[in-house]
Amino acid sequence: MSGKPASLLTFDTSSASGSALLHAQDDWPPDCRTPVPRYDLHCHSTHSDGLLAPAAVVARAAERGVDVLALTDHDEVSGLAEARDAATAAGIAFVCGAELSVTWEENTIHVIALGIDPENTALTRGLEGIRAGRSTRARGIGDALAAAGIDGAFEGAMKYVTSERLVSRTHFARFLVEAGHARAMKDVFKRYLTRGKPGYVAHRWATLPDAVGWIHAAGGQAVIAHPGRYDISATRMRRLLSDFRDAGGEAIEVLSPSHTREQYGEFAAHARAFGLLASCGSDWHGPDESWMDLGSMPDMPRGVLPVWQDW
Ligand code: AMP
Ligand code: MN
Ligand code: MN
Ligand code: MN
Repeated sequence: MSGKPASLLTFDTSSASGSALLHAQDDWPPDCRTPVPRYDLHCHSTHSDGLLAPAAVVARAAERGVDVLALTDHDEVSGLAEARDAATAAGIAFVCGAELSVTWEENTIHVIALGIDPENTALTRGLEGIRAGRSTRARGIGDALAAAGIDGAFEGAMKYVTSERLVSRTHFARFLVEAGHARAMKDVFKRYLTRGKPGYVAHRWATLPDAVGWIHAAGGQAVIAHPGRYDISATRMRRLLSDFRDAGGEAIEVLSPSHTREQYGEFAAHARAFGLLASCGSDWHGPDESWMDLGSMPDMPRGVLPVWQDW
């Protein structure tokens, strides 16, 4: 475990001021169940490929009953200050996060950082390095789509970009839907933007040990995002989890909209087997664009230790 500040949260979840923790004084007979704070530790804003500004994401999370929220923009921490202020105003706890793009054995893997100091220079320089390749790659995606007969994709994607620091495949996907090349976001990725498809451009992101090292340097915990989404064999998955644990990684996302109910159990078992903690997040990007809304995760399966156990 990395050295972490005594309290990661900017809000004390043991007090009764969180919305889900409130009990009316005249509530009789008393509700003896222990109130469980609602955690959502994975979502996006306009600082990467989300549709709402950080403050609007936080406001929506608070409205939906989230008690502890982490904003985890791709390869980026620039939205955290706004989100933290909005969380203070809304009376919910906020965790500084990010979602780092990693290349492991030729596969793109996402690693969530939780509880980071956004000003740590090892981290900010590392993120700058990851982001640097994105614009060149975007040109490449535009060229590849042009070669497949789709003109104007680079310019079209740029219209959807909300931070000049970060262009993502999601912005191309929005353009391709708008231009009528696919009906919905999930079809676009399958038909154009994944390995072997006309608009796919391979890219080398950070290494796994580098990403985990930067997260630890910034005082955070490292979490493998949506493990069920990677198109890898069971053997390779076990190797990924053991490499990640050997690099010092702390947790995996057990609850994710990318997982089926069966996979909740499967990844809970992996967490136990590899001695990893369990995390949960909606991976929310915007209204009508996400499988799961902010804060709407089911309960964590029994028998796993949550990533927030020491917060
Ligand atoms: P990038 O980091 O530029 O490669 O873009 C990755 C982003 O594309 C992810 O964070 C998702 O938001 C989005 N994405 C990837 N695969 C899919 C998919 N099958 N359906 C919808 N969105 C996807
Ligand atoms: Mn995304
Ligand atoms: Mn991801
Ligand atoms: Mn994400």
